[in-house]
This record gives sequence, structure tokens and C-alpha cells, in this order.
Amino acid sequence: MKSWLQMGIWMSVFLMVACTSEDQHRRIEREGFGLKNGKIKALSTIAMIGDIVQQVGGEHVDNLTLMRGDLDPHTYQLVKGDDEKLAYADVVFYNGLGLEHGPSLQRFLESNKKAVGLGNKIIKDYPSLVIYSQGQIDPHIWMDMAIWAKIIPYIVEVLSINDPMHADVFHTNGEKLMQDLLQSDQEIKYELGLIPSERRYLVTSHDAFNYFARAYLATQEERINGKWVQRVASPEGLAPESQLSTSHIQEIIDYLSKHRIQVIFPESNVSKDSLRKIISAGKEKGLNITIAPCCLYADAMGAAGSSGETYQKMIQHDADWIKKCLKVDG
Ligand SMILES: [Zn+2]
Repeated sequence: MKSWLQMGIWMSVFLMVACTSEDQHRRIEREGFGLKNGKIKALSTIAMIGDIVQQVGGEHVDNLTLMRGDLDPHTYQLVKGDDEKLAYADVVFYNGLGLEHGPSLQRFLESNKKAVGLGNKIIKDYPSLVIYSQGQIDPHIWMDMAIWAKIIPYIVEVLSINDPMHADVFHTNGEKLMQDLLQSDQEIKYELGLIPSERRYLVTSHDAFNYFARAYLATQEERINGKWVQRVASPEGLAPESQLSTSHIQEIIDYLSKHRIQVIFPESNVSKDSLRKIISAGKEKGLNITIAPCCLYADAMGAAGSSGETYQKMIQHDADWIKKCLKVDG
């Protein structure tokens, strides 16, 4: 009894220290962001934007990302300390297209002049690139590297207005990054094109892979005639909080059966519950489906040191695992 009590006390102390050090880390980071040092203070809502801003701005930008780790960008609400970060920022980059729809964050982004919606610019300048799913705009545009490369000029422009002295650096970095993303885009198209067409079907946790499927799994003909949509399905909708109905489970089971899919992919920041329900329902129908051994990155990048620590790495990680699990020959 005594040892249980001691263990409980030690656990409480451990949790207290862990929380305090996390709070302290956030406070130091926030205060650092607030220091006036002549650099542009750029705040990005999601890491996939923050990483691009970092690569364009380099040492001339103090870059901070609002949502870290596995947080869900669809539902994120402002927390203690965020108001200071938003106040310190010279510019706030966000995705838009309905991604950040947590009410407190959405209100700020829609009403603040220093907030730049990169996806909103894409839909204005390239409306035909944006995908609609059941009447709703699909916000996951970063999953197609060629589309994501198009946000670079907007970032270069905003940083150059904020710091004209270093505009040349931003332009040079942006140009280089653009080439890098477009080259990776072509390489992934080629690599995934090696998977036999009849195996290029993807089931993931939520509807984050429409852009990826259109760019990297579809045939050229399917991209043109719109039939690429048949290449991807997911038990949850555009936002992972969607409820999973019995009829939706049945639809996914039928899809798996029709396309002879044997592996389904979890996502790094989404619960595997809905996939487990699919596996279990599939078993009852005699289907032998497994969950892929590695999570894909969709709504969140990986931690520092992981295979998803940068934007380019996260997309490459996804491509590598999809290729591996869909069993490419040779
Ligand atoms: Zn999502």
C-alpha cells in the first residue's frame, strides 16, 4: 500500500515538473518571439506553412508555428499565450479554404489585416486547381507539391514588403525552393507511377489525400476526365471529427472489396479507431485487411529528427510508404 502511495506521489511530481518545463519552454519561446531584433516576426498556423516561410525567410525571419505536434488544424482553438504571439507577429500566414475553422482562431484570421490566407489566394488565382468534396472546398492543398509551390511567391512578396532590404534574398530563396518542390513533385509522380495502375488505390483515416491522389496516383487521362476520385476513400470526412456511420463503413468495405485493397493507412495525428472498425467489419465479410505499419503525415508534420520533420520530407515519407505498402514490383 505504502509503495503504491509513494509511486503516486512520484508520478505527480514527475507530471508537475514535465508540465512546468513545457510551460516554461512555451513562455521562453513566446518571449523570444516578442524581442525586437529587426527581424520579421512571422507566425504560421500550421507547420507545413511555417516550414516554407522558414526556407524562404532564412535568418531574416523569426518564424513561429501556432499548432505544434499532433494538434488538429480543423478544430484548433486559441489557447493561453496565443494572443501574445498573434500580437507580436508582423504577419500571420494561414491556409484558409475552411481549414482553420475553430471559432476563436477563425474569427481572428478573418478580421485581422496582417493575416494572409495562402489557400484563399490560390483559389482566387488558380480556381481550377481546387478540389470540392461533397460541395465543400477541400483545404488540404499542401498534399500536392506543385500546388504548394504556388504559395511561395505570395510569401516572398509579403516578406519583401515587411523587409525590403532583404527582398533579393527572399526572391533567391523562393526561386530555389520552387525548383526543389517541382523537382520532388516530378520524382514522386514517376515513383508512384511505377505501381501498377490496378493497385494504386488508397484508403486513409480522413479525406486528406484527394490532392495527393489526383497528383500522384491517377493516370493522366483520369486527371483530365475527373475519374481520379475513384482512387481514394476514407472512413472520416474532410475534418477527422466526422462521425462514422454504419452505411459509411459499408461503403468503405465495398470499396476495399471492389479494388482488392489489402492495406489501409493511419495518419499520424488521427485516432486509428475508425480504421479498426473497418478492419473488424471487413473480417466479418471475409476480407483480410491490415493497417499499414507506419502512419502517413497529412494534417501535421513530424517532430524534429523524424522522417516528417520538413515539408518535403513529409510528402516523400508518404510517397515511400504508399509505394512500399502497395507492393510495387521491382
Ligand atoms: Zn484534414
